[in-house]
Amino acid sequence: MPLIISISGVRGLVPDSLTPEVCLDLAKAFGTYLNGGKVVVGIDPRKSSETIKEIIFSGLLSTGCKVVDLGIAPTPTVGIMTKALEAAGGIIVTASHNPLPWNGLKFLRGDGVFLNETEANEFLKIYKGKQFRQAAGQGIAIDQTGIDFHINRVLKAIGGAAAVEKARFKVAYDGCNGAGSVAMVKFLEMLGCTIYAINCDTNLPFPHNPEPVAENLGELMGLVKSKKANIGFAVDSDADRLAIVSNEGKAIGEELTLALAAKYVLSGKNKSIVVVNLSTSQVLDDVCREFGATLVRTKVGEVNVTEQINSLGALIGGEGNGGVIFPQVGYNRDSLSGAGLVLSLMAAKKKSISQLVAELPHYEMIKTKVECASQAEANAFVEKTKEKFRGSDLVLTEGVKVVTPEGWVHVRPSNTEPIIRIIAEAKDQKSARALVDQVIA
Ligand code: MG
Repeated sequence: MPLIISISGVRGLVPDSLTPEVCLDLAKAFGTYLNGGKVVVGIDPRKSSETIKEIIFSGLLSTGCKVVDLGIAPTPTVGIMTKALEAAGGIIVTASHNPLPWNGLKFLRGDGVFLNETEANEFLKIYKGKQFRQAAGQGIAIDQTGIDFHINRVLKAIGGAAAVEKARFKVAYDGCNGAGSVAMVKFLEMLGCTIYAINCDTNLPFPHNPEPVAENLGELMGLVKSKKANIGFAVDSDADRLAIVSNEGKAIGEELTLALAAKYVLSGKNKSIVVVNLSTSQVLDDVCREFGATLVRTKVGEVNVTEQINSLGALIGGEGNGGVIFPQVGYNRDSLSGAGLVLSLMAAKKKSISQLVAELPHYEMIKTKVECASQAEANAFVEKTKEKFRGSDLVLTEGVKVVTPEGWVHVRPSNTEPIIRIIAEAKDQKSARALVDQVIA
């Protein structure tokens, strides 16, 4: 598997493609791109993360940077601290939801937002050109305040902390031994919850694949049932994605995390704006309609959503994969914000999570992909799809999204591999399947 370089960062297998040399050059390129300055660094607890951290410190120092070492920290914590410490940029060492032996690097600008396409291209040009800045390093400062800073900000921003505390929720949590192991437990404690935590030891390897989808949440579902918990939470290895298990012990599907969080944030507000990507569930359209809010859809990629949130002054946004972006806290997908908002909704409505889920419209989503021989073939596939659905309601922001009375199907070429991603959603499995079949036929 070759190194995957994309707008959302760099990922590879350790030690085959994400080699020490690659990590060193990426750090030198980032230090050069930033012209020196302060860089905040956090890692997930993979064994290779600590080594990669030491390597990127060397690279950053050799270009004249000052390094702030947050240690093990969720991606949203690094984003918030990058901005709060007025740094020039930030780096997170993580392969997010990918299992071992993957690792990777995510790059943030000074405001804590991921590099956008233009910025990423400029940075990668420096990486490929290998002409790096040389200057005296400004040292390494250890900062252990990140997680507390982050937690306090969420507690203030959600507005429902007092009600949650009063509700005395019983919460089950699977940290997957990842970067959210300490932060989420501490956060839930401060909200007065009784916590049944599993897999929160960052010295141990991941107990299961870190992607928080239903097939990886079996242990958590069992825990919710055996402890009669009000809700179960799970996160990926860098704790930016949040999945929910209901009080009945069912994984409710990551698409609903943002819908529930948005429901709480929009309640009682007028003419709000919500931003999601093109492939996020239409349940967000329904939630926005309920509160008279406007839903804006962007290209896929966290930075595209964040930049729209900022420019439109949106109250909340994110992605259907459990990624809640709550700008009052920070500009990254944040599992703490997600958990705090969903608990606030439960407390405010005095309803169980399964009742709240039952009140949302139900959709079925199918995600699949088609391998192509080349990028050109992938592009041709998109063109053919446009042709096929001519006369239908087409959204051409990225690839093509066909909106029909039954649902929608989004067809887009991947940024990193010669494949076409196809996502369809409809009221039932059969209709969603029919949309996919129409595209592939
Ligand atoms: Mg992640």
